[in-house]
Amino acid sequence: MRAPMLLTAWLLGLSAGRAPAPEGSAVVAVRARYLMGTTCRVTAWHEEADRAGRAAAAALDEVAAVEALLSTWRDDSELSRLNRRAGEGPVEVSADLAAFLDVALRVAAATGGAFDPTVGPLVDAWDLRGEGRVPDADELAAARAAVGFDAVRLHDGPSALDLTAPGARLDAGAVGKGWALDRAAEVLRDHGVSAALLDFGGQLLAVGAPPGADGFRVAIADPLARERPAVLLVLRDASIATSAQSERGRRVGEDLVGHVIDPRTGRPVPVLGSATAWAPTAAEADALSTAFLVLGPAASAAWVAGHPDDRGVAWLEPTDGGLTLHARGAIVPGLLRLRDDVTTDAALAAARRSR
Ligand code: FAD
Ligand code: MG
Repeated sequence: MRAPMLLTAWLLGLSAGRAPAPEGSAVVAVRARYLMGTTCRVTAWHEEADRAGRAAAAALDEVAAVEALLSTWRDDSELSRLNRRAGEGPVEVSADLAAFLDVALRVAAATGGAFDPTVGPLVDAWDLRGEGRVPDADELAAARAAVGFDAVRLHDGPSALDLTAPGARLDAGAVGKGWALDRAAEVLRDHGVSAALLDFGGQLLAVGAPPGADGFRVAIADPLARERPAVLLVLRDASIATSAQSERGRRVGEDLVGHVIDPRTGRPVPVLGSATAWAPTAAEADALSTAFLVLGPAASAAWVAGHPDDRGVAWLEPTDGGLTLHARGAIVPGLLRLRDDVTTDAALAAARRSR
């Protein structure tokens, strides 16, 4: 089972099946299921109790369908079957998979490859799904030669994908959960749900806000002590995702072999902090949190400054005696409270003073 989440949803006054008596007498249903190696939890409000429960269950079915499409932990997924044909030229793909690949490749291009879904050969070389290992120079060179989103060609009419690099392997690990959450939220809306919180291994997607509230109060955990919240914020009609090497990292000899790789160097990112991304869709938040961990606080802040203002970043950097928060963009207005030993960098302190 995965370690405690880096993000915690505090549904004020809520526990499974019980809710404050909000306006419009909406009732809440909470459904959860073990999917993609972690727990996916859907909390949905609706005027009719059984509609909320049915909607939440249908949303989880949609997440399960995305797992069947994208899981490279299963040989029978469409993505695994596609990976086995790397180097064979264009392979026809379903409209679903083409839509996913289009989003993943766009974020890869937008982040200069800091997020790169072709990272599979490096995940394997470092054995990030096993005990972790340090590859020798030749293994690392061979893996790096098979990685690079710019060697992937997505053709349309009919949709076909060409994994041109022999040995290439697409890995949905950094974006698949987010993609699944967006699809699940569409199912909830189709069921008439206009207020819900989806929590997938710590990634959160808010549909609207809890009835009678301005948003969901959620927390970003301390990357060095995940059971301790470091930052409290309000989330509404957006998603936040956090990446950190402490999530699934492991020690191999002297090396911290974390599960996030810098595709530009071929090595695990040597950082101890955490990067939280805020975006209008969960797929983008998921992929951006990985990219921001690779880029580091300064380059992440520069990326947010150069992109539409409904994106944001909150980088928590361990410093002497505590944490420094580098937050920029859409996440800043939602910041409610920082733990006493969490300081802000000068730019954030100025932004908060001017509010
Ligand atoms: P993120 O930072 O979002 O992603 C890190 C993951 O993405 C790494 O694990 C690696 O796979 C990949 N990655 C590393 N560096 C990069 C990079 N720079 N760019 C792009 N990708 C990168 N886990 C299980 O234990 N069992 C399962 O059966 C299982 N099934 C899954 C099925 C699906 C469809 C998905 C999406 C995930 C599944 N997982 C499973 C979890 C997955 O393997 C990752 O560990 C998890 O998604 C990490 O998410 P994160 O948000 O913590 O880290
Ligand atoms: Mg992620």
